[in-house]
Amino acid sequence: MSADKETQLREELINFGRQAYDLGLCNEYEGNISARLGPDRVLMTPSQLPYPQRTVADVGLLDLNGNVISGTRRTSSEGKMHLAIYKARPDVNAVVHVHPLYLSVLAVMGEPLKMVLDEMTPFLGGDVEVSEFAGSGTQELADNVVKALGPRNGAMIANHGSVSVARSLPFAFTITRAMEKFAHIYYLAYAVGRVRTVPEARQKQLMQYFEMLKTRTT
Ligand SMILES: [Zn+2]
Repeated sequence: MSADKETQLREELINFGRQAYDLGLCNEYEGNISARLGPDRVLMTPSQLPYPQRTVADVGLLDLNGNVISGTRRTSSEGKMHLAIYKARPDVNAVVHVHPLYLSVLAVMGEPLKMVLDEMTPFLGGDVEVSEFAGSGTQELADNVVKALGPRNGAMIANHGSVSVARSLPFAFTITRAMEKFAHIYYLAYAVGRVRTVPEARQKQLMQYFEMLKTRTT
């Protein structure tokens, strides 16, 4: 992979991390973002460094087993989860893990985010599941999240937060923002006690757009 590609991904990781923080999707220490640089190479944000202070030099380069190839800072505490997703999903080139308010509420409720808007299925590929509980930073959490994610683009981590995946980091970030908006709408309808999902036949029809969007890189 070219040095230019690596530089671009490092910049994207810092920029989208900063946006996640600015948009209130996580506080200055929460969450982590990664991007696949090659079949066995992953760039990952550092832990214990506030988003506003991060530079491209703070991004670590790992192999899929978590061995550090370059970088001096400790990489994210949920690194195991990112690597498990890349191993299970060769189609995924970017992973965004944050703690958005409404997705976290559903993650606390153990309530899957159902397809209640016509625009949801193309982004997500079906109901967003909540993983089984496991402690932060554990391999068990990583395995549970891979299971909850399945072939879809998003999952919630029980009593914790959300994860979104895509072919590119810009699109993974777009999915994160969309998913939080969907969770907000779903929660309000749920709280009122009237939730009508998109008819199943329509959801099935929309899956073709999900397959098309899977190739999206921006
Ligand atoms: Zn987290």
